[in-house]
Amino acid sequence: MNVLRLEGRVWLTEAVAVTIAESAERAHPDEAGGVLIGVLSRSRPWVTAAIEIPSAHASGSYYGLPEGSRRRVVSHHRQSDGRLGYLGEWHSHPSDVVPSRVDIDAMKRVARDLDACSPHPLLIVARRRDCAYTLDAREVRNARVRRVRLIAAGPLPPAGHDSESGTDLRWQPGGAHDYDLAPIR
Ligand SMILES: [Zn+2]
Repeated sequence: MNVLRLEGRVWLTEAVAVTIAESAERAHPDEAGGVLIGVLSRSRPWVTAAIEIPSAHASGSYYGLPEGSRRRVVSHHRQSDGRLGYLGEWHSHPSDVVPSRVDIDAMKRVARDLDACSPHPLLIVARRRDCAYTLDAREVRNARVRRVRLIAAGPLPPAGHDSESGTDLRWQPGGAHDYDLAPIR
């Protein structure tokens, strides 16, 4: 597809990559999935948690987020850490195939959904290749979908650390905080 371009970057903690891979392995040969939450670092996503959400309809070729689960999971995590917000979704593909048209259309709907407060949502698909899952990340921007590069990052500093370190937290209405802090390799 020529709408996909190799640009953009997304920070991802090692724990998130492990969570997605382990959830995918556990669910295999069915798909697993859930939501991505975190903050923004210089307006780019920094994924600090991947929450697995069981779907009653998951199969070897389908995963759908249960109705209302996104809002419930995101508000639950914001209660323990108000810096966090919804960044997108993830699911596994038990074979090595790219995100489907259904996957892409679902993320375009999220981008248009004002309730999601996420005009540029991410989709991470864990694709099974050579007996292991590898992560394929896409971002919806201006109704187009592009491939983005995942960069290993450290975990978010504990809440309350920010005033001491002088880092600048910028509030994104209803969404993730913007964290003016270079990720730790
Ligand atoms: Zn899919």
